[in-house]
Amino acid sequence: MRQVCVLGDGQLGAMLRDAGRRLGLYVETLDPESSDALPESAPRRHAIITAEREHWPDNGFTRNLQAEPGWLNASAFAALTDRQSQKTLLDNLQLPTAPWCPVTVDANLHSLRTALGGEFLLKRRRGGYDGRGQWRSESAGEEGMPDWHDVAIAERCIDFSTELSLIGARDAQGNMVFYELTENFHAGGILQISLMQPGRFARWQREAELYHARLMSHLQYQGVLAIEFFVTDAGLLINEVAPRVHNSGHWTQAGASIDQFEMHLRAISGLPLVTPMQPGCSVMVNVIGRAVDPACLALPGTRLHWYGKQERAGRKLGHLNFFHPDAARAAEWLRRLPLDVTFAESRERALRALVGPNQAREADMAL
Ligand code: ATP
Ligand code: MG
Repeated sequence: MRQVCVLGDGQLGAMLRDAGRRLGLYVETLDPESSDALPESAPRRHAIITAEREHWPDNGFTRNLQAEPGWLNASAFAALTDRQSQKTLLDNLQLPTAPWCPVTVDANLHSLRTALGGEFLLKRRRGGYDGRGQWRSESAGEEGMPDWHDVAIAERCIDFSTELSLIGARDAQGNMVFYELTENFHAGGILQISLMQPGRFARWQREAELYHARLMSHLQYQGVLAIEFFVTDAGLLINEVAPRVHNSGHWTQAGASIDQFEMHLRAISGLPLVTPMQPGCSVMVNVIGRAVDPACLALPGTRLHWYGKQERAGRKLGHLNFFHPDAARAAEWLRRLPLDVTFAESRERALRALVGPNQAREADMAL
């Protein structure tokens, strides 16, 4: 049996480990701060080595790991972990993305507004997540914009109708599979709710898959990769790419015959890649900042995945999944779920998507 090592020991690594157990693969997660000398460890020399994150400290351990023959997707990480090289790659592959420019040493609020034709976001090139490391030009006060010259890109503020993501996988032979497009609802840059209804975004599915396939083929990518999109009047625009399993694919644990974690392991270990069955509505709700309300568990159909992390404002501590073939039942679950007020808008939008504006409003009044 081949061993799989995962760089990173967060919740994504833990869920890959669980999927490995089900498949009969031994999956070991590795703390990137570890002082463990990998080359000395004989069994790992033949391991397939993947990552659950795209940023890690540059130390002896992570350098050794990347020098192993089993280290996958080196060129994908090189191209995608820095937003500037990611955007450059998307442009080179003629994949539509939000207009952007580098933040050179002489850039200022005025020059960037002129270059991008209006308000923009600064996004730090490395290390941002859950909306951190971002700054919006509309919020510019007296002090002006932060001094992120050379360490950020500037991106035009996009007027989008909604946000979608596509999770896909590719194996060493170039076989590819995709899940259905997922609709994502954020607040303050943090993903709160993901919703998958079969065929709902059929209009965009093929185009999204073509873009995804072009990118994975170019990178000779192995494993699961996620692309986030903005839906605009002019079509799909790529927001960003993550070379790993992704929060917006967590619904697959309840709503697909093969979840994204198993799909990733299949893709990297030579097991068959097949399009999973996704027969109904899936809703995923992140648990953010505080312990889950036990009342969530009192609802039939709730599946909790708890990450075992310390509570901290804005931190993703777990997620709740629900699956049902019937959209009305999924809406009922979401309506009854005890969520704090910060979820109000995301929930309202997700309910509207599930059962239409009238029923969503009635449900709101009933709450
Ligand atoms: P993630 O948690 O997905 O890694 P992140 O911190 O890397 O997030 P982005 O995905 O780039 O950041 O941005 C977070 C959210 O901020 C987006 O999902 C979107 O709601 C909003 N956003 C990002 N870029 C833009 C843009 N150009 N115009 C308008 N809104 C944007
Ligand atoms: Mg994002």
